[in-house]
Amino acid sequence: MMSFDSFSEPSSPEASSPESGSPEPTSPAHNNLVYGTACAVCGSKKIAFNYGVICCNSCKMFFSRAMKTPIAISCKRQWNCNFSGVEKCRYCRLHRCLLTGMRCFKSVDGPETARIIVNLMIKDQERKNNLLNSKIPSNLTATEMFERKPIIFEPKAPGTEFDFYDWGVMNHLSCIDFATKFRFMMYLSPADVKVLFKYSHLMYMILVTAMRSYSAGLEVMCHPDGSDVFPEEVNGYNNEFLNGIKGNLIGRMRELRVTEEELLLLGAIILCNPAVTDMSQSGRILLAAHRDSYGQALLQNCNVHSYGPSRFPEILSLTSIIIKTQQDIHHFSSLYPIVHPQQVKKNLFTDILDFLRSEN
Ligand SMILES: [Zn+2]
Ligand SMILES: [Zn+2]
Repeated sequence: MMSFDSFSEPSSPEASSPESGSPEPTSPAHNNLVYGTACAVCGSKKIAFNYGVICCNSCKMFFSRAMKTPIAISCKRQWNCNFSGVEKCRYCRLHRCLLTGMRCFKSVDGPETARIIVNLMIKDQERKNNLLNSKIPSNLTATEMFERKPIIFEPKAPGTEFDFYDWGVMNHLSCIDFATKFRFMMYLSPADVKVLFKYSHLMYMILVTAMRSYSAGLEVMCHPDGSDVFPEEVNGYNNEFLNGIKGNLIGRMRELRVTEEELLLLGAIILCNPAVTDMSQSGRILLAAHRDSYGQALLQNCNVHSYGPSRFPEILSLTSIIIKTQQDIHHFSSLYPIVHPQQVKKNLFTDILDFLRSEN
């Protein structure tokens, strides 16, 4: 199902920057190259060595532009177009570029790490604003939320009080909106977006909920108004079990005295987990490259602050507590309707949980 075992020590991506054109001939990508006589992407005979593969100038220019264009692309057919015809589907061409080995992800050095962290902070501030100050959008279904549709946040009226379900929905929405704004999301197929959300969304939400409560000096996860993350109806269910869900992750965060920067980078690493069942191969390549960048930034951050060599693996090991917390939440929410069927309200919140639990 889900694994973080494949997270290796981040290495320099075998990449050249988009600006630099062809990489040095000694790059690792070059050594692995299968030399052909035609463009590896479109089959054209006018070839050169670009971005680590043999391809034509037109595909090189296409790849460079695609990596800089800030709009989502998709395929009108079934994400499997061929390139013999005149019309070249942008989505399939980009994924073919990735599959042939083209890379243009920059390696992460000092200034780049700072830029990554600042970007995450800005996005995270927007997420917090949406969570705290927006009303529940009307006419939105759980499926639409996970299909990368832009979510419109409107300010809530002063004095509006949220109950457990309202906070739950806004927490989901603000986290989904945050995730969709990552650049790699634009290049994933709708099917890949869906599987990624299924496996990473709840983990990410657990992390930011714990992060908020930890920053506020609390020992257990709470909603922003201080109310419990579980509905009142579950009082007395199994307090020890519920307290574990609410407090284990924060307990470890406090022991490690994690910083906001570390948690933001860990959140990004969780969101681009390539070890997800049913992810396409080009989707995995995209996610792995981005996760390595965030991993490298985290490593840099740990080194800069001289925490010692164990800091990086310690921060990453928080993911195992998040996975355990997620399993416990699944266990609880599958059991709870059986114990108290009459008390479970059917609404957008339960629809979201149903979507995350569904098989496909
Ligand atoms: Zn070509
Ligand atoms: Zn296509």
